[in-house]
Amino acid sequence: RLNIKKITTGSKSLDDLLGGGIETKTITEFYGEYGSGKTQICHQLSVNVQLPPERGGLSGKAVYVDTEGTFRWERIEAMARGLGLEPDQVMDNIFYMRAYNSDHQVSIIDDLFTFVPKNDVRLVVVDSVTSHFRAEFPGREHLAERQQKLNAHLHQLMRLAEAFNIAVVVTNQVMARPDVFYGDPTTAVGGHVLAHTPGVRIQLRRSKGNKRIARVVDAPHLPEGEAVFIITEEGIRD
Ligand code: ADP
Ligand code: MG
Repeated sequence: RLNIKKITTGSKSLDDLLGGGIETKTITEFYGEYGSGKTQICHQLSVNVQLPPERGGLSGKAVYVDTEGTFRWERIEAMARGLGLEPDQVMDNIFYMRAYNSDHQVSIIDDLFTFVPKNDVRLVVVDSVTSHFRAEFPGREHLAERQQKLNAHLHQLMRLAEAFNIAVVVTNQVMARPDVFYGDPTTAVGGHVLAHTPGVRIQLRRSKGNKRIARVVDAPHLPEGEAVFIITEEGIRD
């Protein structure tokens, strides 16, 4: 755990739950149902990593690997403005990469082993890490093969995080009702995808209005508990 750095989420309460923020040298998984805030947090971290250390950032750039086509530059602009940053400059410091299938997603990450050190990248986002694998290996009959490929991909991401002391953040959409999908552990609410990979798992749930609840799962070095945060036009806040 030497030389680990942290990136603020924008919410003091969520940062406290995480022991100060999202850590480098590891994978952080945000999992939760549709609309729970996974993509908004990924956008926010891509902005916040650019902040200087005294404001909770790493003065670094972000790579955003988008597998679902849900990335929005307008959200980056709004979040940059919310922090008093120059939106054009913030957008220039985010390398957007669209992954069209799981093989493409894996090859993008392979290429990052040369791209990251050359470009001052301190955060890599994969939103979501699971969607292509699920679409390409559907049903219980492909579950073992899918998990094997996904685990190899997650180990690749872990090596990237460790090799360059960067933060890797992945998302995973799970079912609102795990009882109707009992055949597949990775889509159940309790079934995060990092089961066989070290890392920090955070479950997100919707609450009233713009409120969201985060819970750290299976993290021996973090206290048990929950954090409440909100999603505003300007981004993630308390
Ligand atoms: P997930 O990726 O978990 O499916 P998102 O991160 O896309 O969910 O969260 C979507 C939610 O974020 C919306 O339901 C809305 O509550 C909030 N949101 C998105 N854009 C804005 C905005 N411009 N202003 C305020 N809230 C927003
Ligand atoms: Mg999303």
